[in-house]
Amino acid sequence: MRAVRIVVKAPNWLGDAVMGLPALRSLRAMRPGARIAVLTKRGLADLYRCVTGADEVLPYDTWLGAVRAVRGRFDVALLLPRSFSSALLAFTARIPRRIGYAGEGRSALLTDRVPRDPDLLRRHRVYYYHRLLSRLGTPPDPEPPRLEVPEDARSWADERLPRGPLVAVNPGATYGAAKQWLPERFAEVGRRIAARARVVIVGGPAEAALGARIAAEIPGAIDLSGRTSVSQLAAALARCRLFVTNDTGPMHVADALGVPVVAIFGPTDPVTTPPFGRGHAIIRKELECSPCLKRTCPLGHHRCMKSIATDEVWEACRERLDR
Ligand code: SF4
Repeated sequence: MRAVRIVVKAPNWLGDAVMGLPALRSLRAMRPGARIAVLTKRGLADLYRCVTGADEVLPYDTWLGAVRAVRGRFDVALLLPRSFSSALLAFTARIPRRIGYAGEGRSALLTDRVPRDPDLLRRHRVYYYHRLLSRLGTPPDPEPPRLEVPEDARSWADERLPRGPLVAVNPGATYGAAKQWLPERFAEVGRRIAARARVVIVGGPAEAALGARIAAEIPGAIDLSGRTSVSQLAAALARCRLFVTNDTGPMHVADALGVPVVAIFGPTDPVTTPPFGRGHAIIRKELECSPCLKRTCPLGHHRCMKSIATDEVWEACRERLDR
């Protein structure tokens, strides 16, 4: 008998893609004989070299390209994103069974509509993605997200990073300016860290200028911002004792590698999208307006970030470096 063919539509943001990994792992456990593919934006395809569970990764550049990549090839689509476009994609590709969350005008395009349980929306997003598996049977409890660094990426990092203690700092946030703590405070924390470890600046291509500016202010800092693929980022973070970051995709990568994180949260939700594992520090201020989940501060003052002092972040770093 032919193996059932399942395509998992991955989320489009790095952090969400990492938080969706436990669902992929559990799917493999539930359907060991299935042929499982991950359909992902090309920029995130490299992430899936760091995980097991998928037989195939299908990168795409455009929505039509995604339809072509899966049309006629799969029996089941598991749609992790809640977007209308992902449901339309599976429908247009004529995948017979289409599992996803109801709502967003997409319910008519799905064969298996999973209701959005309000309790689930108040839990970590790992559970949110994982719940979709309930349409395929009784899933195991989700395991924490886990990444393994591929050998080529490990060699890449070994060539660029020195031996000895390293601490990574991620001063940018691809999603928007509201998620960014103040650059001068990152630089000051970086200078204090530099007395005890080499600082490695990381970030996406859009944050390369910011990374270079901050690296120039920290003695001995190594600037990798804008220069890493996802697996190379993972390889660099895996070499570090600590990761200091805004609430970003790399934060979830570090968590999935078991690297301790000091995460600075402003407008985002510390309940649904913190690093999943234990032992991390989340630094945030409880304000009436937070979490607003906006890309730029709608009130114009950005107080959620401005009221986090350099000393608070440094203390969380120092405590972890002392361990
Ligand atoms: S509205 Fe409040 S939570 Fe949102 S960015 Fe502004 S200060 Fe931060």
